[in-house]
Amino acid sequence: MLVIDDDPIIGQFLSRLGASLGLSCDVTTTAERFLELLRPETSLIFLDLIMPGIDGIQLLRLLSERRCTTPIIIMSGIDRRVLETAERLAKALDLRVVGRLRKPFRLAQVETILQEFRRTALLTPDFHPAGAAIADCDLVRAIENNELVVHYQPQVDLRSDEVIGFEALVRWQRTPQTLVFPDDFIPRLEALGLIDRLGWLVQRRGLSELEHFAQAGLAGPTLSLNVCASSLLDLRLPDTLASLAEERGIDPRRIIVEVTESGLFKDLSKVLDVLARLRMKGFQISIDDFGTGYAMMQHLRHIPATEIKIDQSFVKNMQVSSSDRVAVEKTVEIGHELGMKVVAEGVETVEQLEFLRGIGCDIGQGYYFSKPLAPIPLQMWLSNYRSAAGCGLTLGKVVDRAFIENGPWAAREALGVLK
Ligand code: C2E
Ligand code: MG
Ligand code: MG
Repeated sequence: MLVIDDDPIIGQFLSRLGASLGLSCDVTTTAERFLELLRPETSLIFLDLIMPGIDGIQLLRLLSERRCTTPIIIMSGIDRRVLETAERLAKALDLRVVGRLRKPFRLAQVETILQEFRRTALLTPDFHPAGAAIADCDLVRAIENNELVVHYQPQVDLRSDEVIGFEALVRWQRTPQTLVFPDDFIPRLEALGLIDRLGWLVQRRGLSELEHFAQAGLAGPTLSLNVCASSLLDLRLPDTLASLAEERGIDPRRIIVEVTESGLFKDLSKVLDVLARLRMKGFQISIDDFGTGYAMMQHLRHIPATEIKIDQSFVKNMQVSSSDRVAVEKTVEIGHELGMKVVAEGVETVEQLEFLRGIGCDIGQGYYFSKPLAPIPLQMWLSNYRSAAGCGLTLGKVVDRAFIENGPWAAREALGVLK
């Protein structure tokens, strides 16, 4: 851990706490020393916002310039909304904020964050140390040697509890034990001009594998594909995707193209051309990470989208932050008024699920149901999910607890026992 706070007592406090959980910790009170201490192997940053000299916001900007991928916890005694704004800013700068601590904080709050961090880091068998260097030539080789794999995360209809589709999420199987997550390599692929090859690979693989999941007894599940900003400017995209769907015999209405708000405003006329033609060919369009971009509301009605995905940062905080709760409720309302489906991503707890159901959100996606899984584990998950449903059970507390404590495999076993 690396802590920066102009109050040395906070540093000492966090350092002792980290040590009690087996995490080594460097502490500093100045930005200069902080930047010296920051290493690729640093796995968690605690960053104070208000400091003399370089303040926390300036430091976030510097971290973004250094392409820092280390998870960050923002701390401050300042008004909650300023803390929330700082978190949004950090995300807009492509930094990974995993928590915020409002001072004065209680020991239990920090412990919860640290334990959660340690749990996810240790439990994810494919945990990749953030920031580990990736050479461009390794990435090029990864594509050429077919080392990119696609995992699928189920999406559940919140009214019927049925699995209705999957989002395809790419990973790089760097070694048999190491899986690198997309946030760590997609920006490099974009810079190298290789992102179209990635798009093509995921689309082809996703459309082929979709039919295997359909065999697990699902009626026409949908497949959501992430499309990055530069691919949205490629006027050929609607045609290539349409030929692929035709080749595989898949109705384009089952394919959902996910675009992000930032991707929509690169070159609006080209993007609208691509989106309109995608829709004319029958594909659906989803606005991913909704709420994290700029001035979206006024443009929303001009975009021919069929779905909105509420960004997981709102879902995560909606029970503690009233502004996030209002944002979620209003997004559901506006989405429905415009005739769109609304998906909540990052659903992790039964409380979030019940809240989303209560406000009429259509679809849920998140660790509460399942992490993104490779095709074979996904098929097992599907059959377990269906047999649990067959016993009149929804994914209830037993499975939830098993998952929280011991990960997806324990949850699977819990489902097996229930069966
Ligand atoms: P996204 O499209 O917003 O995908 C959702 C991300 O949230 C995924 O991260 C997923 O694993 C994670 N997630 C899902 N449920 C939960 C939850 O309950 N809790 C938490 N904490 N996280 C959850 P992932 O797979 O690391 O992907 C990150 C981003 O990389 C994606 O964000 C998407 O923008 C991009 N991406 C992934 N695959 C592709 C791809 O094939 N092409 C392109 N262009 N971008 C991709
Ligand atoms: Mg997405
Ligand atoms: Mg998203």
